[in-house]
Amino acid sequence: MNCADYVIIGSGSSGSALAYRLAENSNDQITVLEFGGSDFGPFINMPAALSYPMNMKRYDWGYFTEPEPNLDGRSIAAPRGKVIGGSSSINGMVYVRGHARDFDNWAQLGATGWSYQDVVPYFLRMENWHDCGSGGDPRVRGNDGPLHITRGIRKNPLIEAFEMAGVQAGYPATEDYNGYKQEGFGPMEQTIWNGKRWSAASAYLKPALQKPNVKLIRCFARRIIFEEKKAVGVEVNIGQRTEVIRANKEVLISASSFNSPKLLLLSGIGPADELNDLGIEVLVDRPGVGKNLMDHPEVYIQQACKQDVTLFKYWNWPAKILAGVQWTFFRNGIGSSNHFESCAFIRSAPGVEYPDIQIHFLPIAIRYDGQAISEGHGYQLHIGPMRCSSRGTVSLRDKNPETPPKIVFNYLSEQKDVIDFRRCVTIAREILAQPAFEPYRGKEIQPGEDVVSDDKIDQFIREHLESAYHPSGTCRMGNASDKKAVVDPQCRVIGVENLRVIDSSIFPQLTYGNTNGPSIMVGEKAADFILGRTLPPDENAQVWIHPNWETSNR
Ligand SMILES: Cc1cc2nc3c(=O)[nH]c(=O)nc-3n(C[C@H](O)[C@H](O)[C@H](O)COP(=O)(O)OP(=O)(O)OC[C@H]3O[C@@H](n4cnc5c(N)ncnc54)[C@H](O)[C@@H]3O)c2cc1C
Repeated sequence: MNCADYVIIGSGSSGSALAYRLAENSNDQITVLEFGGSDFGPFINMPAALSYPMNMKRYDWGYFTEPEPNLDGRSIAAPRGKVIGGSSSINGMVYVRGHARDFDNWAQLGATGWSYQDVVPYFLRMENWHDCGSGGDPRVRGNDGPLHITRGIRKNPLIEAFEMAGVQAGYPATEDYNGYKQEGFGPMEQTIWNGKRWSAASAYLKPALQKPNVKLIRCFARRIIFEEKKAVGVEVNIGQRTEVIRANKEVLISASSFNSPKLLLLSGIGPADELNDLGIEVLVDRPGVGKNLMDHPEVYIQQACKQDVTLFKYWNWPAKILAGVQWTFFRNGIGSSNHFESCAFIRSAPGVEYPDIQIHFLPIAIRYDGQAISEGHGYQLHIGPMRCSSRGTVSLRDKNPETPPKIVFNYLSEQKDVIDFRRCVTIAREILAQPAFEPYRGKEIQPGEDVVSDDKIDQFIREHLESAYHPSGTCRMGNASDKKAVVDPQCRVIGVENLRVIDSSIFPQLTYGNTNGPSIMVGEKAADFILGRTLPPDENAQVWIHPNWETSNR
């Protein structure tokens, strides 16, 4: 029988970091269970190919939401990595820690020990930061961790135009939004190293697998096995065979925000009424499992470009083949960047204390998933409100582990989110109208110049809103006495023994930025809880808050 001290379900952002740290300086046997396969090949490794893996069954679980009630019944793609490295192997490679206040909020919501000062030492431990010539303070960044973080070559003239436009519109600039000043326009950071995607598998899993006490088993986890209320193993499918992999110490679920709650529900941990309806024996009644689903929704505001400076000139087969050859042999050229090389974190209104809008700038007009490109040269802002109040759910359709989960985000179910989205459209247009874009600005492609009234903007948002692919919160961390919390601040599932959830599903509140960095941080920090150690808080960690935030958003 297969058995280990720690059995980790999922080799994604959190699971890989967890395996690496648990194996460090220890003889414990660690087995990682992963349904996905190898990450070999250009679709994953070539940064510019980022839109391919999320559309490939081989690498993506292929989930879609139910018809979204406030988006005229549209089903939205909800990709999740199904490959070693998990979603960090199919994501956009943007690296964001999150704002200091995000983590202070976590602590206030009951996640004791997760304030900004508590998590900074873990970001420092995981990072291997390279400023690539575009500034920042190395003293506030990690320099020898496993996760390489770089910046793009930033040669496209539209990048300078974008950052200048932000300043012309009155917003601040920042050299390093992952340092002490998140707010402003500046260079975007990437998990790319030597021209290749630097996923959690590259940074953590593959080095961990070099150790004799770490093993990877390719299998599908069906449910957790308990003896009374103590987790003792995982039932898995290995090919056509079903067997149990025993855990002598703990079972650690790192299967992400859709599959972690699904596994708990299939194992009898969740809202008792839902489980009873499905004929699943209730082990622990935890009403919060699968609830509190959060995400960052966004729209693309697209402008035609009068000059042939955009990436559109490479959007043809001869240029793509040339880029592929150059990348294959030299790991440089157009293939070696994700092209998210500039961004902004800004505040939507006076009285908002810290950024609630994130903008990704892209020097081409295209859908993120590569499914539709506008004809001709263009550029775009990906923009959306980062602090949505709407909450969704992940639930089971039936008790068959192989049935995909039922996902509903309930985007725009709160009026505040509708108003915030309108503001995003107005702000994006204001930035694109600044003098810095004058030499390039053609007509507005999307939403289109006739989309001006609130009604038309709302309709545009309903028709075009997409996920930014940051689902979180479905196994929320909180006080053990909080009835709706699923895990306690040490990631232990409340009500059972020897079982933790360690991934993006435990976020009490979504961080205001992309979620790969915080997911890795969760794996790093939870490993220390398991090993009974913790890094001392960084009492000197500083945060920049705009001095006029109460009266102005610039
Ligand atoms: C298309 C896309 C683009 C994104 N872009 C960015 C970006 O640019 N920057 C950023 O910071 N974030 C981005 N994200 C989000 C970020 O990558 C995720 O938030 C983060 O990777 C989540 O980490 P995790 O550990 O929670 O889960 P994952 O990394 O998804 O890991 C879960 C793992 O568990 C495995 N698993 C699940 N169920 C089972 C089972 N039953 N049996 C066996 N194995 C199982 C999965 O195959 C997977 O490997 C993006 C995500 C996607 C999908």
